[in-house]
Amino acid sequence: MNLRIGQGYDIHRLVRDRKFILGGVEIPSALGCDAHSDGDVLIHAIIDALLGAVSLGDIGSHFPPSDSRWKDADSSGLLRHVMGLLRDRGWEPVNLDTTVILETPRLRPHIDDIRLSLSRMTGIPFDAVSVKAKTKEKQDAVGEGRAVEALAAVLVTGN
Ligand code: MG
Repeated sequence: MNLRIGQGYDIHRLVRDRKFILGGVEIPSALGCDAHSDGDVLIHAIIDALLGAVSLGDIGSHFPPSDSRWKDADSSGLLRHVMGLLRDRGWEPVNLDTTVILETPRLRPHIDDIRLSLSRMTGIPFDAVSVKAKTKEKQDAVGEGRAVEALAAVLVTGN
């Protein structure tokens, strides 16, 4: 069996008057992500992990911000597109482990909704999709509530 591992990272600024979408789930929040697309920082980190696992570049090379097609794009659609790229090449994800770092709101009540959403988008079994939440102990822009970060690691098998 051929195994590959990938890791991804993303950070978005938090601003007023934007929806806060994580892993395809809208989270009630006074602030949302300022971004070219819908600003789903978690899906963006996962896309980079998947592309990285199979050495297919990064999210910016597949969906350049300069391309108006991706303005306010639904990140779920981008993730599904990337899953197609992997499957076309004979790769299938095995498990996904992620961390979201933000000060507020508390993510715990939404974790299983996000896991289910990611499981549906990737085809990874729910039990093999992990979403963890951390704060930054009031340090730096994330700790001051001005940004949100996400980390992702994925294992893929195939070929
Ligand atoms: Mg991003």
